[in-house]
Amino acid sequence: MPSLGLPGTKSALSETHCPYCALQCGMSLVPNGSGLAVKARDFPVNRGGLCRKGWTCTELLDNPQRLRHPLIRDTKDGDLRAATWEEALGRIEAGIHRVQQQSGMDAVGVFGGGSLTNEKAYLLGKFARVALRTSQIDYNGRFCMSSAAAAALKAFGIDRGLPFPLADISRAQTILLIGSNAAETMPPVMQYFQGQARNGGSLIVADPRKTPTAQAAGLHLQLTPGTDAALANGLLHIAIKHGYIDEAFIASRTTGFENVRRVVSSYWPDRVERITGIPEKQLAAAAHLLGAAPTAMILTARGPEQQARGVDNVLAFINLALALGQAGRLYCGYGCLTGQGNGQGGREHGQKADQLPGYRSIDDPEHRAHIASLWNIDERVLPQAGCSAYEMLDRLGTERGLRALLVFGSNPAISAPRARHIEARLRALDLLVVSDFFLSETAERADVVLPSAQWAEEEGTMTNLEGRVIYRQRVAAPPAGVRTDLEIVCAIAARLGAGAYFPSSEAAAIFSELRRASAGGTADYAGITYERIQRENGVFWPCPGEDHPGTPRLFLDRFATPDGRARFHPVGYREPAEQPDEEFPLYLTTGRLMAQYQSGTQTRRVQKLVQLAPSPLVEIHPSIARNYGIAQGDTVRLTTRRGTASAIAQLTPGVRLDTLFMPFHFSGDGRVNLLTNPALDPVSRMPEFKVCAARIEKS
Ligand code: SF4
Repeated sequence: MPSLGLPGTKSALSETHCPYCALQCGMSLVPNGSGLAVKARDFPVNRGGLCRKGWTCTELLDNPQRLRHPLIRDTKDGDLRAATWEEALGRIEAGIHRVQQQSGMDAVGVFGGGSLTNEKAYLLGKFARVALRTSQIDYNGRFCMSSAAAAALKAFGIDRGLPFPLADISRAQTILLIGSNAAETMPPVMQYFQGQARNGGSLIVADPRKTPTAQAAGLHLQLTPGTDAALANGLLHIAIKHGYIDEAFIASRTTGFENVRRVVSSYWPDRVERITGIPEKQLAAAAHLLGAAPTAMILTARGPEQQARGVDNVLAFINLALALGQAGRLYCGYGCLTGQGNGQGGREHGQKADQLPGYRSIDDPEHRAHIASLWNIDERVLPQAGCSAYEMLDRLGTERGLRALLVFGSNPAISAPRARHIEARLRALDLLVVSDFFLSETAERADVVLPSAQWAEEEGTMTNLEGRVIYRQRVAAPPAGVRTDLEIVCAIAARLGAGAYFPSSEAAAIFSELRRASAGGTADYAGITYERIQRENGVFWPCPGEDHPGTPRLFLDRFATPDGRARFHPVGYREPAEQPDEEFPLYLTTGRLMAQYQSGTQTRRVQKLVQLAPSPLVEIHPSIARNYGIAQGDTVRLTTRRGTASAIAQLTPGVRLDTLFMPFHFSGDGRVNLLTNPALDPVSRMPEFKVCAARIEKS
């Protein structure tokens, strides 16, 4: 049972943060009978607010389905059975050595997650490159924020979800929010949009569905899925025509506008209406609200980002913000509403295929030398970039691909596109190791399952969507037989003969090393300490020294490019990889529900959440449902070129006539990723989760 009063905990009321999304709401845990209960806490991000997931999160700690000892599968066709840690680690050691000898170092891979702490993300990156000597490491954040990250790097020279604190949202005159249903996915953030409305501001929401977020907006642009770049270019076209662009800002703080001006000149409103389905009048109204505002923000989320043109889509919106002069000033700017709990920090410290800690590049000789020296290895043995998440999964068990995979904090059997294919690839591995606290759908297929500690049972840091580094303390002891991921990684490294490089599994010691590794890098954490974070309600990176105040707002003086100027990138609209046709006449798009989170490994085990969102559903417009003879509550079958899934029909006039919406939290035949298209963005390698062609029929 969880218990308070561990060494290092301060009192019977323990301040920590929610285990789920990128808001990382502050909360307190208090004793409640034999367990723990959540109490609201006035933290600057959520100001006492929590959503249902946060309120119920302690149910995860003593959940009866919790894994409490390792599991091993003796033969490929056999069942998982209980094992000791000694046996499980021995099996992993032998399996890795066998694969390395037979197929080489790059035949072993690591798949991490955007919910892991910064310490874990850092240690996994080091473990892959130093203990396994493999280039093959990537993480599920590739499926989440990678398009926004790549676009921000290109345009601003730095990737931090929001370049300003959330509180600034209330001060912006106009906000354009594209492809985010924040009212359901992170409800406490809505207080900032409500504050903006009270201050007389305007909110525009672009989304194919009339979500609760869109209902809160003064203007809803109900665009056709996959037409985001056309919308952005159309708005910029109108802004130029009506003289809204800020020539002085463009001249003094940016480069490359003329090419963008040329590209958007052909995005006439009637053409953009035909592409996006948004009436010309609404386009003009949105352009006017943005153009006439003294301060404006443009915020994207997974809608425009999770596409095979995701980077272009985000760049097109950044172009719009820059041309209007709505960046690099107070209460202005482009930002991305990050999704996963540590989607931000998880991509800064080395678990991404092409990255080293501190947002350093694995291709850069100086960056490589810095990290190699800190890790006490020869730079020449530091592997080069590996392949991205989907590409890694796609090659599992193939002759020239990976033969062994270690998965931490991720459930790709649910979260990867073209899921049936990924299941087959996972089955083809010689060795699949999964560390998790529940038997996820990926763990069910593993050869070795390792039971790991949960968020309240270990300390560590997370970096929220603002770039604010927060601290989670260890509030309760993990169940007997359960280890932390840090202990697991260090134990495997020791088995592989690399123990000397991993002298401590304590989060504080690893954070101290991370700070040194990040020093001088883009995401510089050198001045951030656990004590400071607790004292100051989080510290914003970059923070290069302990006497540095941290950086809540970026770009006020200069952008993070070599010349300090933001870069325009000309972007044309291109159709999604798959368009509806006779066989598959509708668009299918995906997203989240309020009561579930990501692949559902955790939230599908919390009774109060299951009652609210028990099973897979598909939203369909009543007129279209009638054409297909589908009534509310019918079981329906959805089919795409990748496969078939089933769900319960939910009729709603809030979804476009040509679009179906299905959430991605469910397992079995209710997995929407049985249907999604793995077409990848050429830069970010993001799969096209948000748009594919589908048909629907009554089961
Ligand atoms: Fe947790 Fe996100 Fe809900 Fe806050 S909004 S309580 S961080 S799931």
